[in-house]
Amino acid sequence: MDFSFNEDQALMVEGFAEVMRSRPWEKYFHECDEKSEYPVEWVKAVCEIGFDRILLPEEHDGLGLDWSTLAAAYEVLGRMGGPTYVLYQLPCFDTVLREGTEEQKKAVLAYVGTGEQVLNYAMTEPSAGSSWDDMRTTYTRRDGKVYLNGHKTFQTSGMRVPYMVVMARNADDMSVYSEWFVDMSKSGITKEPLHKLGLRMDSCAEIYFDDVELDESDLFGTEGNGFMRGVKDFDLERFLVALTNYGQAYCAFEDAAVYANQRVQGGKAIARHQLIQEKFANMKVRLTNMRNMLFEIAWKADNDRLGRGDCSMAKYYCSHAAFDVVDDALQVLAGIGITGEHRVQRFYRDLRVDRVSGGTDEVMLLTAGRAALKEYR
Ligand SMILES: Cc1cc2nc3c(=O)[nH]c(=O)nc-3n(C[C@H](O)[C@H](O)[C@H](O)COP(=O)(O)OP(=O)(O)OC[C@H]3O[C@@H](n4cnc5c(N)ncnc54)[C@H](O)[C@@H]3O)c2cc1C
Repeated sequence: MDFSFNEDQALMVEGFAEVMRSRPWEKYFHECDEKSEYPVEWVKAVCEIGFDRILLPEEHDGLGLDWSTLAAAYEVLGRMGGPTYVLYQLPCFDTVLREGTEEQKKAVLAYVGTGEQVLNYAMTEPSAGSSWDDMRTTYTRRDGKVYLNGHKTFQTSGMRVPYMVVMARNADDMSVYSEWFVDMSKSGITKEPLHKLGLRMDSCAEIYFDDVELDESDLFGTEGNGFMRGVKDFDLERFLVALTNYGQAYCAFEDAAVYANQRVQGGKAIARHQLIQEKFANMKVRLTNMRNMLFEIAWKADNDRLGRGDCSMAKYYCSHAAFDVVDDALQVLAGIGITGEHRVQRFYRDLRVDRVSGGTDEVMLLTAGRAALKEYR
């Protein structure tokens, strides 16, 4: 199996590495994390050289490339310390191109290359987390208009996105789940920020919809298909989370390796102590497993062979494996990792969030387990 990058991929990886070397980003990331601010300058810089065009088809001025190239981009940006979790929405134009009306597509594509956040998908509610059965947001038709009422919680980018695709139930037939493309500047919408443990460069919000007036043309996709649409698009979202986890682990591993070779205790570099070497062996095993799993999944996706449980398995495995790597890296950095402002601290907080957001560990295991067993039915 050939794991090497082709010429275009190698050039792109070098371009992203160049962006990462172009300024001391870490100071900026630290400030953004502390203030819970979106790192728009960095996102603009990576979009200027085409990050958000990687999966976008050529007819929409995109590069029309594949998951393998996206994986290579995530790897280099993550390895060099970039908060790649803020980029999740950017490769996901496929959903809008597949489901959106011409007007919705136009609204979203207008943001390509800007580095600004555009759109997120609102499912979760206080009564509907892992299971959507008790979703209470409704839409009601009245006098030729549609009115949206309800409360969504834990909404990623919720404080900043100009549009949101909101899942709601038909008030006249609660078995029908549909999605609505909502302009977030409409009256009747209230947003409240939520403070979180990690992933702080992206906002998280409670969002209230109080008789928000929509038109029939704001329907996203097909009426009654909201549930199936969500399930279809989970794979890419989970894959991107797993790639971010891997990138953060890679970065922490390299920070710890440089430090272990420099830090002298007991008359020799700590890298020469066998208990420290054991940590690096374990870190390397986990990094290798993550990389192999992720690039194999990318190859499968690019060749129409993606299995139903593959991305859930990767999200589950990588969030744990990456957490273990970062934990070992923190142990090597010891005092300077625990105190002060080392980025590995931030990764530690970020990684813990990923075992819940985008679907919990338990839901990933259930999905991966069911898919594994189905192959033998
Ligand atoms: C930072 C962050 C960002 C998020 N962004 C978004 C977003 O942009 N859009 C959006 O719609 N949602 C978003 N979410 C919501 C996220 O998907 C949910 O938090 C998640 O699905 C779990 O829901 P819950 O927190 O209500 O936990 P619950 O569903 O109440 O679960 C509590 C615990 O029970 C377990 N559990 C539940 N059901 C089962 C079961 N059947 N079997 C075994 N264990 C089970 C869970 O795994 C968990 O451990 C975000 C969440 C976070 C934390």
